Amino acid sequence: MKPWQQKLLREIPPVNTVLDAPAAVQLLQQHDRELVVQAVNAALADLRSQVTAAADESDLSRLDLTPDALARSAAAQLDLRLQPRLRRVINATGVVLHTNMGRSPLADEAVAQIARVAERYNNLELDITTGERGSRYAHVEELLCRLTGAEAAMVVNNNAAAVLLMLSALCSSREVLVSRGELVEIGGSFRVPDVMEQGGARLVEVGTTNKTHPADYVRAIRPETGALLKVHTSNFKLIGFTEDVPVAELATIAHEHGLPCLVDWGSGVMVDLAQFGIPHEATMPELIRDGADLVTFSGDKLLGAPQGGFIVGKRELVERCRKHPLTRALRVDKLTLAGIEATLKLYLEPAKAIQSIPTLRMLSLSRAQLTPVADDLAHRLNEALIGTGLTAHTIDGFSQAGGGSLPGVDLPTRLVAIAMAAPHAVERRLREQDPPVMVRVSGGQILFDPRTLWPEELDLTVSALRRAVV
Ligand SMILES: *Cc1c(COP(=O)(O)O)cnc(C)c1O
Repeated sequence: MKPWQQKLLREIPPVNTVLDAPAAVQLLQQHDRELVVQAVNAALADLRSQVTAAADESDLSRLDLTPDALARSAAAQLDLRLQPRLRRVINATGVVLHTNMGRSPLADEAVAQIARVAERYNNLELDITTGERGSRYAHVEELLCRLTGAEAAMVVNNNAAAVLLMLSALCSSREVLVSRGELVEIGGSFRVPDVMEQGGARLVEVGTTNKTHPADYVRAIRPETGALLKVHTSNFKLIGFTEDVPVAELATIAHEHGLPCLVDWGSGVMVDLAQFGIPHEATMPELIRDGADLVTFSGDKLLGAPQGGFIVGKRELVERCRKHPLTRALRVDKLTLAGIEATLKLYLEPAKAIQSIPTLRMLSLSRAQLTPVADDLAHRLNEALIGTGLTAHTIDGFSQAGGGSLPGVDLPTRLVAIAMAAPHAVERRLREQDPPVMVRVSGGQILFDPRTLWPEELDLTVSALRRAVV
């Protein structure tokens, strides 16, 4: 260590001196002493490492070693520490369901209902009419049955849990037939074969990777067979020379052999996406109508609800799932149920659901609807970019549904692009803003997709970019 560094280190005031500075006294009035002492220590440690890391004394010419300056820096440290880590992020990537960004944002109605239930006591497991113990599932079961046409329904923590429970309750020590083309891994290491094994079921693969025929299932059925399972290949698309057995046909085969047809449909679409120009995806009511005995799906994918895993279908089978000991371990929370109930209520009026459930609204937006928003954003960005030598312009592009849903579907959008020498550095600085702004980088440009922005986020995005480029 150089002599000038040793001298500076000696000049750093001790903790108690910093605690006497006016800025620290103010902090001590607002916060626990232990927390303030920790923040001062952190500020001092930060200062020491700045001094030891400096190559030259002139690098530290702006260093302020007065106790009050150090107390202010401790206040900033404490402020940062008390900020939530899990917080709001602006998603300008156009990926509607982004697992890293919490998948589905919720409808206002769901948010309000979650807050109301969270604030006070509630009737989670209370039957108000009798005053006796009730079922937490009762609050959503009738709605789910009405919306899907199923006889019975229940909810657990997520769809991975729903599949595990379904297999554990119905297929333990039995063989389950699955097409080789559907033995998928879904993000976050949910692998169909592993879940089957956990559920105590023996996996029997039928068909080939690209083609599975009805006869492949029929040939594999034995006395040990417990069910035929269909899995939605949610995050990839097999293209070319392919064939799979649709649910209606699979259900017929299953029923001819006295077996249940189980379906893990993941994304949980409740409305016909064809109305948005998106290729048709079988909806939950269609799967039930086609004869699926149980269908599982996620709450926070295309349904647009909080994280949850639904099991809907035949009463007797749902009952067996409900009675399984795992159900207690996979039990869904009151806040989740409040959000799910409020979201499902919106589906009673489908047109309203599309407008008020953010996931559906964003998926429904056409390029023509997004173009004026992109033009407006480009205009505001250009005002903020005056003097930087950078300009924003709009271009055609595509958004993705993301989150393990609608693989291979490109949603036409209008992007705002800014070409620059170091787009990755600006992308990083945009992430460091409060709130952080997430963008795409492609071909030397940063790209903003208005599809996933709320109107009030346009201004926040513009000011974040302004700070990120200066
Ligand atoms: C997403 C998905 C899962 C996992 O659902 P989570 O709600 O994320 O647990 C399982 N199966 C399929 C087919 C999926 O698409």
